[in-house]
Amino acid sequence: MERIHIIQGDITKIEADAIVNAANRTLLGGGGVDGAIHRAAGPELLEECRKLNGCETGEAKITKGYKLPAKYVIHTVGPVWKGGDKNEDQLLASCYRNSLKLAVENGIKTIAFPSISTGAYRFPVERAARIAMQEISEFLREDSSIEKVFMVCFDEGTMQAYMEAYKEIEKNG
Ligand code: ADP
Repeated sequence: MERIHIIQGDITKIEADAIVNAANRTLLGGGGVDGAIHRAAGPELLEECRKLNGCETGEAKITKGYKLPAKYVIHTVGPVWKGGDKNEDQLLASCYRNSLKLAVENGIKTIAFPSISTGAYRFPVERAARIAMQEISEFLREDSSIEKVFMVCFDEGTMQAYMEAYKEIEKNG
């Protein structure tokens, strides 16, 4: 059974055990998907985030989901794109890997990711998509507890990039 699903939509509406937030290092809210998640979850999310003392780039921390349909939010901090020679690829891969690890540790079976770093952080989307799909596929190969991973793309172009990247990985292993 296929466990990776690439869909177009708003991640705040997804009924998964956890949704992932593309946060910034303060974890105190921002624009883009971060702003949308905080608005939908309500002010209690920010209250819990204040106690976490921020998060390093490539790392992940978990909170409850409050008013969201998802039970948990996993906050991860993607790298800001600085041209590609500042460890951006490895840091982005770490975001996916550490989020999935945290999910397993918390008994999460269904998880939804946004396209981390490809908005305000300007990571090129085709490159980000290849890294994301590679990392998720590799993780699922070793883990049988995660049942479904949704890649939730906000716009058509982003969805195309993830579909392409996924096809390549399916073909080449
Ligand atoms: P980053 O700072 O990591 O680049 P952004 O939030 O600026 O994060 O953008 C990451 C991606 O999330 C972009 O593709 C953006 O279009 C998308 N996005 C914005 N709002 C939502 C939402 N409600 N659901 C899913 N994706 C969203």
